[in-house]
Amino acid sequence: MERELKFATKCVHAGEKPDPVFGAHTTPIFQTSTFIFENVEQGAARFAGEEAGYVYARIPPNTPTHAVLAEKVAALEGGEVGQTFASGMAAITAVVLTTLKQGDHLISTDVVYGCTYSLFSEVLPGLGIDVSFVDTSDIANVRAAFKPETKMVFLETPANPTITVCDIREIAGLARARGAICVADNTFATPYFQKPLLLGADVSLSSCTKYIGGHADLLGGVVVGSRDFMKSLAKVVGYTGGIMGPHEAWLCIRGLKTLHIRMERHAENAMKVASFLESHPAVVWVRYPGLSSHPQHEVAKKQMSGYGGMLSFEIRGGVEAGRRLMDSVRLCSLAVSLGATDTLIQHPASMTHACIPSQIRNKVGIKDGLVRLSVGIEDPEDIIGDLEQALSKT
Ligand SMILES: *Cc1c(COP(=O)(O)O)cnc(C)c1O
Repeated sequence: MERELKFATKCVHAGEKPDPVFGAHTTPIFQTSTFIFENVEQGAARFAGEEAGYVYARIPPNTPTHAVLAEKVAALEGGEVGQTFASGMAAITAVVLTTLKQGDHLISTDVVYGCTYSLFSEVLPGLGIDVSFVDTSDIANVRAAFKPETKMVFLETPANPTITVCDIREIAGLARARGAICVADNTFATPYFQKPLLLGADVSLSSCTKYIGGHADLLGGVVVGSRDFMKSLAKVVGYTGGIMGPHEAWLCIRGLKTLHIRMERHAENAMKVASFLESHPAVVWVRYPGLSSHPQHEVAKKQMSGYGGMLSFEIRGGVEAGRRLMDSVRLCSLAVSLGATDTLIQHPASMTHACIPSQIRNKVGIKDGLVRLSVGIEDPEDIIGDLEQALSKT
């Protein structure tokens, strides 16, 4: 049997197909809405799904550009089939609509991306879908939340913005035993550091807007799962749209070619920044999965091959001090989103997670003084230098 290619090689080569018409080296951008059939018989066969090929850009596999990206991400995640979306939220919505119907129950990590929380807490109940938010870092909470109607367990690990980690293998095993599917949002770790499908999850999804695109210049999402699941998901995609544009797909293909190099540097820098912050007198605590002080450091060590570029911390003086810190940075950008080449700093309680009621925010650990940092790939001395001068103003 042929030896499986290593991750870095897959980043560069997986899914890529030389252009058969002109021999173009890079994957062309197929900027087309529709495809020409050779004859009626072929058109009918494509629509019936009896012949592989392209039909119309909304209907999977969308276009050859999308197909290359989907195949590349599937290879990186160690899954069978991938599907791209216009955004991470479009990806999550399609997974939910594929899996859940009226009367079903969903268990979700309590600390999730702000819009995921809003989708689950505001939109799903209106469709007759019952949702329980639990601290998934303790499997006893997950076990206790199961009901006969539970059809899906949604995990985010490391979670946004508390960087809480949960045990994918344990929870996926529990879900399987109870007849529910386990979905993991892998946006923070990326498949470079964590492969949920190989840990037993049924579906791994990511916002391509973050590390997959990697340069803060696009919106996108991707889902990877088994052939059977993805067949059902493809129908939902065809019926609801929400697909990625071909130019974004091309940018993601380009971004992924350097994913392994970027993630190494993000993680290396984040560890240095986390250690600096942890020893700074103005900082109360730092959460980074690579620190031995992280409450789930052992779980992170077991299921991740590296700890990523995301960290959060709280500084003395609460919201006011946080505001002064964020208004004083010069190199770091005061911006939401994450996974860009530059270091981004933001305040979840007033920005990304402002949509979550304050008493719930406090309960799940999104304190008013919590600062989230997406550590970039600049020289770590410059990042630390900027934080040091800004911390001196708090
Ligand atoms: C950003 C993000 C999303 C949503 O992705 P969009 O591309 O912004 O729609 C979902 N989950 C996590 C963890 C995210 O960081």
